[in-house]
Amino acid sequence: MKQSKTLKSMIRILFLILLAVCTTACGKKEKRPVLKMATEATFPPYEYYANGKICGIDVDIVRTIADHLGYDLQVIDMKFDAVITAVRTAKADIAASGITVTADRKKMIDFTLPYVQAYQLIIVPVDSKIKSKDDLHGKRIGVQQGTTGDLFVADNYKKSKLNRFDNGALAIAALRNNKIDAVVLDADPAKIHVRTYPKEIKVLNEPLTGEEYAFAIAKHNKKLRIDINRELKRMLDDGTINEIIAKHKNAGSSSAPAEVKSGFFAKIKAAFVLNFVKDKRYMYLVDGFWITIIMAFFAVLLGTILGFIVAVIRSTHDMTGKLKICNALCHLYLTVIRGTPVVVQLLIIYFVIFNNLDVNKVLVGIIAFGINSGAYVAEIIRSGIMSIDKGQMEAGRSLGLSYKKVMLFVILPQAFKNVLPALGNEFIVLLKETSVAGYIALQDLTKGGDIIRSQTYDAFMPLIAVALIYLAVVVLFTKLLGILEKGLKKNE
Ligand code: GLN
Repeated sequence: MKQSKTLKSMIRILFLILLAVCTTACGKKEKRPVLKMATEATFPPYEYYANGKICGIDVDIVRTIADHLGYDLQVIDMKFDAVITAVRTAKADIAASGITVTADRKKMIDFTLPYVQAYQLIIVPVDSKIKSKDDLHGKRIGVQQGTTGDLFVADNYKKSKLNRFDNGALAIAALRNNKIDAVVLDADPAKIHVRTYPKEIKVLNEPLTGEEYAFAIAKHNKKLRIDINRELKRMLDDGTINEIIAKHKNAGSSSAPAEVKSGFFAKIKAAFVLNFVKDKRYMYLVDGFWITIIMAFFAVLLGTILGFIVAVIRSTHDMTGKLKICNALCHLYLTVIRGTPVVVQLLIIYFVIFNNLDVNKVLVGIIAFGINSGAYVAEIIRSGIMSIDKGQMEAGRSLGLSYKKVMLFVILPQAFKNVLPALGNEFIVLLKETSVAGYIALQDLTKGGDIIRSQTYDAFMPLIAVALIYLAVVVLFTKLLGILEKGLKKNE
């Protein structure tokens, strides 16, 4: 009896071990390929941030499709006017961003089947004199850059002042602050924005356009389009799409700030909670901060190395007349880099040079800002080298040292010490310049603030927070630089 009991429990244990092995083996299943989706995530209910994650109708539809086709989904947030380019340049496989099918866009990419009917609406302050689309002539109108709303207003209201914003939420913020008279926006996000501030703004129930949303896929990616169309059709037929749409009916309304009536400090506190505490929004700033620091640090490293090389080539040429071709190349580099804005260089590197290559965006940032900074560092160091008395070189040479050795061990260390303040300054400039990284959808510190702003419709708190963080880093860095300079002086 006892024996059979032990046998039974042994079998049970064996079974459990077998089960555990099985499940871990299954858990270790092959990693699935990734489907990259480009979107602009301030377009509720189609795409919006909730609890730090991008969700929405488009995300759910594409995730369901990806799942069926055996992909893991990766969602990339960028400016709307970049989502189609991202697909064309292989930065993403699919663009899903409430994109309206238009003839011009069809020339660039292929569209899937349409999945939603849409139209543009006008949003105005509740007490506005604008009652219909005819009243828009000559007014200040806000739109989201690169959208069909933008095209519609540009084509139909030539005498109006067109204000193009990066996203609809920013246009709404401008409307609430009396910077513009009306906003033209896609109907669904328009209604959600208005729901957040029902006492301040309203929509005019007059559809301006008739549109259809579809997903964008690169022209060469026919197989993916066919696969997605098959899935889309099934989801349209069996009601899955309708279910997903219904699920996001209340999108964005959680962002609505609670009304605080009394007291200045109570208001500040409520705004602070809304902007940073609620939904752990401070994490956008924390994550963005590290990206900014990492990018600036490695870019300055790359810039210093490049700068040193260029400076040595240029001053060697100045002093000895040698290295003619290298000097000409360096000259070209300095002219081009110093003659063009860093944001244009960043975009060229990302979209043109790395065309058809999916590179890490932080790396792109480091390369772009590093190359840019190198040009300035080169001139700083060259001026440092030139400031060293000529006699030093002559003395070194007469002691029998080679040109290289004098340069490396006599001239450069002194030059470096002389230009340290200017180099520190360059790092400060660079750190702040990285704030344009959002153009290639990098979530740096500035972009982190932008995301918060687009969710809370509050410009003040996120902007001030971002400014204070940059300021703190710069002050700290200046202090460290001061200590380093003092140390170097002591050693003289
Ligand atoms: N439907 C509009 C367009 O395609 C706007 C889309 C958006 O802002 N995400 O232009």
